[in-house]
Amino acid sequence: MEMKITVVPGDGIGPEVTREAIAALESVAQLGGHKFQFLEMPIGGIAITKHGSPLPSATLDAALDSDAVLLGAVGGNEFNSLPPNKRPEAGLLQLRHALGGFANLRPSVAYAPLNHNSPLRAEVTDGADILFVRELLGGLYFGEPRSWDKENNVAFNTMRYSRNEVVRVARIAFELAQRRRRKLTSVDKANVLEVSQLWRATVTEVAAEYPDVTLEHQYVDACAMHLMNIPRNFDVVLTENLFGDILSDEAAVITGSLGMLPSATIGGRVNLYEPVHGSAPDIAGTGKANPLGAILTAAMLLRHSAGLEQDAQAVEAAVQRTLERGYRTADLARTNQTGQQIVTTREMGKLVFEILNEIIDRSQALHAV
Ligand code: NAD
Repeated sequence: MEMKITVVPGDGIGPEVTREAIAALESVAQLGGHKFQFLEMPIGGIAITKHGSPLPSATLDAALDSDAVLLGAVGGNEFNSLPPNKRPEAGLLQLRHALGGFANLRPSVAYAPLNHNSPLRAEVTDGADILFVRELLGGLYFGEPRSWDKENNVAFNTMRYSRNEVVRVARIAFELAQRRRRKLTSVDKANVLEVSQLWRATVTEVAAEYPDVTLEHQYVDACAMHLMNIPRNFDVVLTENLFGDILSDEAAVITGSLGMLPSATIGGRVNLYEPVHGSAPDIAGTGKANPLGAILTAAMLLRHSAGLEQDAQAVEAAVQRTLERGYRTADLARTNQTGQQIVTTREMGKLVFEILNEIIDRSQALHAV
């Protein structure tokens, strides 16, 4: 298979973690006989410094002309005095908008024994493997009218969804559930909000197209509680923009570190893959950045853009085994755990790479028999 991937490493630790994600993708390409062509382009602070814009038109053109976009992170303290629309983050927002993805996928997986780093007890987090599908282009963040009337001290926003906006994201969530454990939890506030009643009715209607997937509905407040009580009961969680923003951050606690979280935004012209964390200027250049979120993001790219499910699973298994062997970047280290070995960004990337090669070699040998 052939793919053109635009890589936008961005600022701070962005380039450091992206390098390790690319190494994982190159390894999969080499061992599987695939051709991945990487085109590196500037975005964010580095693009402001070099080209005067956080999203140069050449970067946008390359992104729109590719099969997938892989992003590191943007942002830096030196740009904080710029107006919001000129800052590095504006480049990312413009890119997301142009690529048009409306379904934001955020897995929350308890990688054992790393989940012991979670403030939740291991017996609560053990086995948790949740995929959030958050609607990204509608709801309260974009609904009109919106206003802050400062004279009268009144402000309001509009939570608005059309049936079609719900249908398209629901179909993606059901299809993903079909490839997982076939359970979908749709989250709303249908006991209070009309927009949630439309959401619930529409998801129920779409469910008829997927009889092999079990659908349940939960109110967002109850869901927030269940996520912390029995996270392993969830498979795919489908929800609207604001609820998804809050719940996926809540569930991130299960994983034990921000540096572990991958994401994908799909459904638009080109899919965008990015770790959840920012540019972490406080640790940039120190070798302390955890590259696993970026490497797991590469796995999502393999799954959702390249259609290479087995290779995606191999990357995830390589991350799991690296952690099982006790290797930790500084953010994952815990004083009360024995057998940990603290490694740098580069070392962690190399360890995953070596284990990934072993896994793929072994599976190819098995297929050859
Ligand atoms: P951040 O995610 O960059 O960092 C928060 C904390 O987590 C820091 O202590 C950092 O050292 C740590 N951290 C983050 N990623 C890590 C990793 N991979 N390994 C180890 N530790 C990690 O968030 P912030 O400090 O609020 O923001 C810093 C800059 O990043 C700001 O300019 C912000 O606007 C930007 N930002 C960008 C994105 C993005 O590009 N998607 C997302 C969030 C923030």
